[in-house]
Amino acid sequence: MHDDQRRPVPTPRSANPLAPDAQLSPSTLQDALTPRGLFTNLFPIDFSAANLGILRQSEKATKEDFIDRRRPRFYQSGETCYAYGPGLDEFKDARFTSAIVTPAADPYFALHLIKHGLMEFLRAAGYLVRSRLVGVSVYDHENPIKSAEGFVKILPEYTFQTSLVEGAQGNLIFAISIDVGWSIAPVFELGPRVATRPDLLENLKLVLECSECTARCPLYERLGHIIGVFDSFAAEGTELTSACQHHDYTPQPVRIRQRMRSSAPRRRGGTSKPPEERTIVVPGQVVTPATGQRQVLRLSTDSNALALAGRIWLGDLTPDRRVRTDGLQVRYEHIQRFLARLANHETRGVIFPTETGTRVTLERVPVTTEVIADD
Ligand SMILES: [Zn+2]
Repeated sequence: MHDDQRRPVPTPRSANPLAPDAQLSPSTLQDALTPRGLFTNLFPIDFSAANLGILRQSEKATKEDFIDRRRPRFYQSGETCYAYGPGLDEFKDARFTSAIVTPAADPYFALHLIKHGLMEFLRAAGYLVRSRLVGVSVYDHENPIKSAEGFVKILPEYTFQTSLVEGAQGNLIFAISIDVGWSIAPVFELGPRVATRPDLLENLKLVLECSECTARCPLYERLGHIIGVFDSFAAEGTELTSACQHHDYTPQPVRIRQRMRSSAPRRRGGTSKPPEERTIVVPGQVVTPATGQRQVLRLSTDSNALALAGRIWLGDLTPDRRVRTDGLQVRYEHIQRFLARLANHETRGVIFPTETGTRVTLERVPVTTEVIADD
């Protein structure tokens, strides 16, 4: 097993379990906080079935053969290509045969299914979700830590990372580590208000959020997604790339550097070309800075107070700004409360389906160091 696949972060032994939280089932909280060996922030995953669900596999085809296909989904695991998910019924390719695969037979494929199942589950619950290299970040917009000037919000951010851990009995434990932090959620558009500070906006990632963008607009397919990075404000009257309607305001033209999606499929073994860029001009009123960019704080006169609120919430500091010694406990409680919400405040774990139809459960009682093999 690779070292980077096992990164349990120990949290301290809990000396006094907390008073039950109104939103949490008392017994679940008690269970999760009662010391039984050192806690980790690693939560085990249980599979509802012995196998990964409905899929087909092929040793003759590769994922790259289907680069233009959206359905079904494909996953390449060594010499094996798996096909699964929506559209599998209509997928006719004689190179693929139905297969029964256990999680242990292809643990990294299992982790992939868990990650994507979790992302869909969180999106369906209304959260803003971002895919990271090895994990998933979710922003808790329902419980902002602090807002300022109608300009920016500080939100809790939870990062879920799938991992494989070897148990003390030599067994394989599928798990998700959860870390908690805080993130910036900008809630302004690039209108006249910030036009005097282009230096603070440079390279800011921007999301197209236009209520009047229609399929006629050349940018329509990027609606709701990051469209590029801020370059500069353009002179009034500069021709716009966007065809978004703008009856309610005078457009504040903004130049945005946009990375082009490569149209040609990448060749196996070939070198990939650097992505091409172009500059587009859109009304500043149809873009907002993407969530998570700390640079936005510099635009706020309240930036110190905002960052302070984040650190207090996270447990780094007490409300009177002293360093806390029980910060890890505070983080652990945030994680438990969030998991309780995801489980609908029932005592069970967080249940969600994978795209192969198998359901998995993210348990709310973490793996303790007793059940993890020593190095
Ligand atoms: Zn548009």
